[in-house]
Amino acid sequence: MKKILITGGAGFIGSHLCKRLLDEGNDLICVDNYFTGSKENISGLFKSPYFEVLRHDVCFPLYVEVDEIYNLACPASPIHYQHDPVQTTKTSVHGAINMLGLAKRINARILQASTSEIYGDPEIHPQKEEYWGNVNPIGPRSCYDEGKRCAETLFFDYQRQHKLDIKVVRIFNTYGPNMHPNDGRVVSNFIMQALQNQDITIYGDGTQTRSFCYIDDLVNGMIKMMTSSSKVIGPINLGNPTEYKIIDLAKIIIELTKSKSTIINKNLPVDDPMRRKPDISEAKSSIDWEPSTELKDGLKQTIDYFKTKLK
Ligand code: NAD
Ligand code: UDP
Repeated sequence: MKKILITGGAGFIGSHLCKRLLDEGNDLICVDNYFTGSKENISGLFKSPYFEVLRHDVCFPLYVEVDEIYNLACPASPIHYQHDPVQTTKTSVHGAINMLGLAKRINARILQASTSEIYGDPEIHPQKEEYWGNVNPIGPRSCYDEGKRCAETLFFDYQRQHKLDIKVVRIFNTYGPNMHPNDGRVVSNFIMQALQNQDITIYGDGTQTRSFCYIDDLVNGMIKMMTSSSKVIGPINLGNPTEYKIIDLAKIIIELTKSKSTIINKNLPVDDPMRRKPDISEAKSSIDWEPSTELKDGLKQTIDYFKTKLK
């Protein structure tokens, strides 16, 4: 039985990862300070003797003994990470230092949940791992973007300097059940608005694009990366390469929910990236991964989940 630590395990992605790793027969420690995560996301796992939760902030050192660490702790939605930007940078940077220090002490393999945001508002399309990005260092998104970039730097320096066994995945927009209904992200916002026949809020003219990966596909990729040969360290893009305009996503959600909502336009947030689409050829060749869930299928599952939140 492998002992695995998941930081941010009560969040959207973390809760799915915990469930999968527990189902696969591992012994888990989930660490979370419940800033954006919730006990409800992991309540189904409490009955297992191999699932342990620690309320802990990764900005402070942690002493546990495990074989593998998945480092996910960090708010991911713009409204949450901009709520306390100093804390966001601390979580990314101090959290990475603490988890890397832990991995070094106990000789554990460690995977960092990095992000497509490290590419900023990209001038190269689709984004390949070699691209260094176009990030504003002083804007409202910088606490997250630069925090995550610095965390990647720390991971690669620990690898070069201390020969640490690292893995870095750059996650593109992911959606599915257990997303926070009020986290302001586009999929949760549009579904909640559509289900309540409220106006669908498009920021800007809706021609900006994103590529949406269903949670089960992403979790497969994260586990494939963690269990791959130690030569594969990344960074590796994990995301669905099918690109959608935000206006088209709104139309699909209106159709699937049979909503009476109308579409309205609001101001585009500062530094909102105009295009985003992963090049996943590296993930295909080095870990034999690609997503298989069609957007409409994943959205149906997500809509069913949000319906339960409205009851
Ligand atoms: P989330 O906000 O649902 O989960 C983050 C979890 O981390 C929450 O449970 C939160 O309470 C916890 N957390 C935050 N600060 C903490 C701290 N200081 N100490 C301990 N726990 C803390 O977000 P998510 O969508 O599940 O994202 C998980 C990870 O994946 C994040 O690192 C995020 O940057 C990365 N990511 C997510 C996406 C996406 O589309 N969801 C895209 C790119 C990268
Ligand atoms: N967006 C939107 N309406 C919303 C929420 C988001 O039009 O109610 C847009 C947002 O401006 C961005 C895209 O949807 O262009 C994705 O936003 P999200 O916050 O989900 O993720 P990120 O910008 O981090 O990719």
